[in-house]
Amino acid sequence: MFSSRFRARRIRGKEVFRRMVRETTLSANDLIYPMFSAFGSGIRKEVSSMPGIFQQSIEHIVAEAKEVHGLGIPAVILFGIPETKDAVGSDAYAEHGIIQETIRAIKREVPGLAVITDVCLCEYTDHGHCGIIKNGDVDNDATVKLLAREALSHAQAGADMVAPSDMMDGRVAAIRQTLDNNGFSHIPVMSYAVKYASGYYGPFREAAESTPQFGDRRSYQMDPANRLEALREAQADIEEGADIIMVKPGLPYLDILRDLRNEYAMPLAVYNVSGEYSMIKGAAANGWIDEERVVMETMLGFKRAGADLIITYHAKDVARWLKGGI
Ligand SMILES: [Zn+2]
Repeated sequence: MFSSRFRARRIRGKEVFRRMVRETTLSANDLIYPMFSAFGSGIRKEVSSMPGIFQQSIEHIVAEAKEVHGLGIPAVILFGIPETKDAVGSDAYAEHGIIQETIRAIKREVPGLAVITDVCLCEYTDHGHCGIIKNGDVDNDATVKLLAREALSHAQAGADMVAPSDMMDGRVAAIRQTLDNNGFSHIPVMSYAVKYASGYYGPFREAAESTPQFGDRRSYQMDPANRLEALREAQADIEEGADIIMVKPGLPYLDILRDLRNEYAMPLAVYNVSGEYSMIKGAAANGWIDEERVVMETMLGFKRAGADLIITYHAKDVARWLKGGI
């Protein structure tokens, strides 16, 4: 295919040439910043395994939301740490639940920032699972009803987009129908379509206080060994009405991201999860890697693999580095 005169280095020789032939770009518009909203006031507690990430009460969330908006990041995704947890995750769909109040506060103070909400029950159940427990396992259909109720209550509080992360079957259709029936047909659904049962979620569970109290999540999250199943999961969510589909975690599943990019003409998000963040932060703190360089290379990797949107705890740093002209 190439003549013997081909020299790859010719076009790499000058920074201006490298800029001209760069295939993948990264912008603050690609980023979504996750935040953990805690019940109470005056709370700003750093997650020990996630340096720079905090559990915060609403006034601090609002202050950080202003900072995020000022950096040009278009959206945050919210996770809640409620006052009390119970078997059915009541705070998740309470009119004045932690997330509902957080949405109202952000939309009042920073109306230009898009508020996406994580829709799941694990942060609100005392057993830490993503749904209602029956006979020792999560009951799919009973859970789906509550998830639809939760998504509706987020929309009623002012959420701009809802993002179900539970991995129950049929939840996108139920959420879509409930939103449509209640005057929220304009609210998009970003589904965690392809979510693997992953060890990389460890630090998040400390941050969101959502560790399962028994068993694990393998009866609803995907087996890390499976690739074709990801296409089935994505297809199901698209048919049920998802507007954006997501792959989670990110780095160990770049092949899946590329598969979905090749298969579907849908906006595609990736969740650069807590364990991926903690590994970089830990190595950087030890001086083993150059944090900025490794983070930016990671972000480009997601974009190159096909992601349109990157949910990442590095978002604020990335936006700052982009302004610095990387
Ligand atoms: Zn969950």
